[in-house]
Amino acid sequence: MDAPGREDFPQPHIGAEQTLDRMAEKRNDKAWIEERLADASSRFLLFSDLSLAVDTNADRSETKLRWYTPDQVRELGADLSESFLLGCNSENHAVFAVSLSEAQAKAGQGGMDALKPLVDLRSLAMQGALRPDDLSLAGMGRALAAWHIMCKCCGRCGGHTIMRDAGWRRQCWACGQEFYPRSDPAIIVLITDGTRCLLGHHKRYAHKFYSTLAGFVEPGEDFEACVRREMREETGVRIGEVTYMASQPWPFPHLMMVGCWAQALTTELTLEEEELHDARWFSRDEVKLMIEDKHPEGFTVPGPHSIAFALIKSFVESG
Ligand SMILES: [Zn+2]
Repeated sequence: MDAPGREDFPQPHIGAEQTLDRMAEKRNDKAWIEERLADASSRFLLFSDLSLAVDTNADRSETKLRWYTPDQVRELGADLSESFLLGCNSENHAVFAVSLSEAQAKAGQGGMDALKPLVDLRSLAMQGALRPDDLSLAGMGRALAAWHIMCKCCGRCGGHTIMRDAGWRRQCWACGQEFYPRSDPAIIVLITDGTRCLLGHHKRYAHKFYSTLAGFVEPGEDFEACVRREMREETGVRIGEVTYMASQPWPFPHLMMVGCWAQALTTELTLEEEELHDARWFSRDEVKLMIEDKHPEGFTVPGPHSIAFALIKSFVESG
């Protein structure tokens, strides 16, 4: 069975709906960056140890990004020069993100309490609690914040690295080696034998939760080869045609999910049990019930903002 047309493919939300102009050409314009850092109309997202400061109600069902002015950021203990530029919004105001360590946050006015609530962005993403464009923006900020934490030292000589280009480059002070923010590619795959699709249950998943299968792209491998290798290793299924459908940045910490449909040439399963607790073939009718949370055995699938859901939904709608 052919994969559905990409124009009909339901788009996942994280990373797909940014309305910001990234202003890449201004990242190394020091005068422009300094002017914008001092401009009272500039806005800042604030992370502390990768948790995001938001405005929310008790059950997190109504959550909004919390925006800070330059003065507020300074009062909270952050160093403005450590901010990274996300871009300019539709009103041409500069938008930055800044990351505070716990020690910095405690030393600022009001301490940690002034930042609360600090929330886990991944939980908000799974819950669908933020507007898609806000989620994309916060995801971009979080991926950069995580990269800065992980890239403080040079992998070549061990020297300290210094932030450059408004947060889009780091450079070793000792040997000059440059580092750029990274995205790690991973494939995520809807395998079908024509009438059924193969979904897996990982050990780390909640009980009765089934999803599309995924794996990391290795050096020297293209996406198609990665799909064939990973799916054979994990399930024993041999894959024929592979069709690219869509991608989704997943900023935990900085994955790029590459969503594909894959045609199964064989259907017998030999599971790699270390990782995969179970995998089974589901009919369209069954998957539809799983999406609607009405499956008689209580099986469920991922929430609507994920590329896994988009792939699974496209399978149901392709019949
Ligand atoms: Zn170095």
